[in-house]
Amino acid sequence: VSVINKIAAGEIVIAPVNALKEMMENSIDAKATMIDVLVKEGGIKLLQITDNGSGINKEDLPILCERFTTSKLAIFEDLSKIETFGFRGEALASISHIARVTVTTKTEKDECAWKASFSEGKMLGDPKPVAGKTGTIITVEDLFYNIPSRLKALRSPADEFNKILDVIGRYSINNDNVGFSCKKFGDSKVALMIKSDLSKKDRVRIIFGAHVSTKLMELHIDVTNDVEKNGLLSASGLITNLDFTNKKPIQPAFFINGRLVSCDPMRRSFNQIYSTFLPKGNKSFMYLALTIRPQNVDVNIHPTKREVRFLHEEEIIDALAFQLQEKLASIDT
Ligand code: ADP
Ligand code: MG
Repeated sequence: VSVINKIAAGEIVIAPVNALKEMMENSIDAKATMIDVLVKEGGIKLLQITDNGSGINKEDLPILCERFTTSKLAIFEDLSKIETFGFRGEALASISHIARVTVTTKTEKDECAWKASFSEGKMLGDPKPVAGKTGTIITVEDLFYNIPSRLKALRSPADEFNKILDVIGRYSINNDNVGFSCKKFGDSKVALMIKSDLSKKDRVRIIFGAHVSTKLMELHIDVTNDVEKNGLLSASGLITNLDFTNKKPIQPAFFINGRLVSCDPMRRSFNQIYSTFLPKGNKSFMYLALTIRPQNVDVNIHPTKREVRFLHEEEIIDALAFQLQEKLASIDT
């Protein structure tokens, strides 16, 4: 069973950034307003996420890393009505099968924090009382210590670190009530600092540079009855009509129901529109956050397969593309 768990976990987490993404989402779900990330050797040696969220009850610690342990299923009986996004209660379990996990956590009502270590889904020993603030610190050490092939397949620590910075940056744009920081272990200064009161636009400037943020415009999509019928509940984002011919292209940042996703059909459709506005079809920067009726989003999608599927995809993308086109046409360059 342990081998099967290990293999399954190695498919859920293929690089440090996948583990980080899951843990950041947990912090955001726990209503954190500050998330600090500490990284050693591209996250392979150490990946530590500190948040000031709700914390975890001491009684919940023993099963924390067991599969399907989740506090987020609104309705158990009716799977079609689950208000959460797919895949539940597997992230920490998976991570504990391929790394050494330590959790230090304190809720508002606890007098001290509790610290526990986990391996292969199980808690090792009893939680120990320690000093600490309300919130959670999750430490993931020696990722893939038991899967040498995965370890070999990783990019250099510098590359893995850049992937981590990129994903933190993207989540910070989508969660503009939350502050984020990222630091390399041993460095005195932070690699990224996003204060919680910064606007989305300021976040884009810090993350991607002033050339991206200067002409950034808000995009609010009207969700007409027609679109709503198709399950699209809200859509907003940031676009710019600047052309980055001489700059590094930036992948679009698409979020669906709070998760960073890829959506090739959407990307292709928007690129086509951009190409009519920008010379040589150069892509520009785009951030788009969609809320789609949860039961319409494919819940079986694998967490690292970022490519997302949802019902009425074509109709929704067409409606979005149409409004993107109108917005781009309405601005002068
Ligand atoms: P899921 O997020 O799908 O519930 P996870 O494996 O990611 O599954 O997390 C399991 C559970 O652990 C969560 O449901 C939540 O109750 C708890 N948890 C994990 N991380 C945190 C955190 N940073 N703050 C508070 N609770 C957390
Ligand atoms: Mg989670």
